[in-house]
Amino acid sequence: MTTPEPAARLHIDWTRCDGRGLCAELLPGALSRDDWGYPLAAAGRVRASADQSTVPLAGTELGAALDAVKLCPTLALRLVRPHPSSGPQ
Ligand code: SF4
Repeated sequence: MTTPEPAARLHIDWTRCDGRGLCAELLPGALSRDDWGYPLAAAGRVRASADQSTVPLAGTELGAALDAVKLCPTLALRLVRPHPSSGPQ
């Protein structure tokens, strides 16, 4: 079984984040928070050994992700869309 290509990825810059959790409230299925309040990939969203600050998103999550990027008070979020030529091989 192959994992479908995500519609986009949300990158969290933890060096900018203040850990208040607005983004995790907007994207409860994609983000959870660590013991200090910093957002990271929700359980099962990425492999445990993978980068927890780059979170694959479904198409249905793009609107909320765009809101999170716009509303993040520290500009710590960035939406990364797949390159148009990087479709399934
Ligand atoms: S909205 Fe921005 S500052 Fe707030 S927890 Fe999310 S990434 Fe951090």
